[in-house]
Amino acid sequence: MNTRIDTDCVVVGGGPAGLMLGLLLARQGLRVTVAEKHADFLRDFRGDTIHPSTQELLADLGLLDEFLAMPHADMPRVTLSWHGTELTLADFSRLPTRRKVMTFMPQWDFLDLLAAAAGRYPGFRLLRSTRIDGLVRDGERIVGVTGIDAEGPVEVRARLVIDASGRDSMLRKQAELVPTGVAAAMDVLWFRLPKSEGETYPFVQAGAGMIITIDREDFFQIAHVIPAGTWTGTDPDVERMKERIREISPRLGAAAAHLTTGDVHLLRVRLERLRRWYREGMLCIGDAAHAMSPAGGVGINLAIQDAVAAARILAPVLKDGTPQPADLRRVQRRRTWPVLVTQRVQRALQTPLLSRREPGAPLPIPLRMLRRYPALTRITGRFVGLGARPESVR
Ligand SMILES: Cc1cc2nc3c(=O)[nH]c(=O)nc-3n(C[C@H](O)[C@H](O)[C@H](O)COP(=O)(O)OP(=O)(O)OC[C@H]3O[C@@H](n4cnc5c(N)ncnc54)[C@H](O)[C@@H]3O)c2cc1C
Repeated sequence: MNTRIDTDCVVVGGGPAGLMLGLLLARQGLRVTVAEKHADFLRDFRGDTIHPSTQELLADLGLLDEFLAMPHADMPRVTLSWHGTELTLADFSRLPTRRKVMTFMPQWDFLDLLAAAAGRYPGFRLLRSTRIDGLVRDGERIVGVTGIDAEGPVEVRARLVIDASGRDSMLRKQAELVPTGVAAAMDVLWFRLPKSEGETYPFVQAGAGMIITIDREDFFQIAHVIPAGTWTGTDPDVERMKERIREISPRLGAAAAHLTTGDVHLLRVRLERLRRWYREGMLCIGDAAHAMSPAGGVGINLAIQDAVAAARILAPVLKDGTPQPADLRRVQRRRTWPVLVTQRVQRALQTPLLSRREPGAPLPIPLRMLRRYPALTRITGRFVGLGARPESVR
């Protein structure tokens, strides 16, 4: 064994859930090791949305100024263009938070900020380029993890193992925690398009399929939602996709004319959850416990709120001893309801997101309601901006 670490808590996965939990536990004076398989956080296939509730947490943690000093774009409301008819989907302007906006920031910058903030506490340790691949057991109890880094094998022993390694978690499989699928009807095609100076688009364009346009200053990051299982990555697929984009937005369609199969990445969407989030000695949080779809852009928020709830419930227990299954069950109980509600809403959103209607045809019912009763956009704003059960570090 090349590296052997003994710590209070080992967190597998340096995504939003894992790094936020690492930060919060280290802040409580605990020793926490976060193992991340990548060398950096420069992964592109993730949401960029930092919700008002997450910004409220950052403010409470004294990190808001640092956060706002990084390049970002604020969105006070989520707008949609349906065959050219503009409407608001969610309005954040009345939220009871200091920042009443959804902020777009490349996720790697946000994760760098969390890692740097956690690194200021003596108990925090981030193992980069460390892929965890096994559990260490003492009888029934999970007491650590094994993995590999550039130098060789690694073992981390801890009183608590947190699996925050996302929707493809191998650890939960080894712990015999099997997710139940909830139907996900869509996949996402992800590609970049060039941007001219001053060029803007509504965040969501729909009616003949759906495009989300994320403005990343120098280019547009496009997420094009398609029915699940319909993409095979062939040239005819790309041509069909370009045709659909031209239909939804002629200007973006023109910019997409040069795309080839190599430029387009397929992101498979999954919507699933564990019935039980824990084993003795180990707890799953974030997407490892409940994979979220991009619909509504709330997965990061939910993952972070899991971390906040887990830290609040488990830090006092970890200070005094070893968390028992009843303690881990308390975290699951606290977070199951918001997950259920959010996944139901995501499922309900799939049909209107994918639907294709002729220009001039009536809007789908949920959109008609939002248009007729604008006050409803404050409710959707609350749901997207704060989540079904916001958590606080105060
Ligand atoms: C196409 C798509 C778009 C999305 N867009 C949005 C959006 O705009 N807004 C939003 O809020 N949500 C969005 N989501 C959902 C969101 O990405 C997830 O809900 C969120 O990232 C979950 O955070 P997490 O920390 O639980 O897991 P992840 O973000 O998946 O992080 C897991 C981390 O664990 C690491 N890891 C994995 N295995 C190991 C291992 N064996 N050893 C060590 N490290 C490991 C990974 O490298 C990763 O860093 C989207 C999802 C999809 C599929």
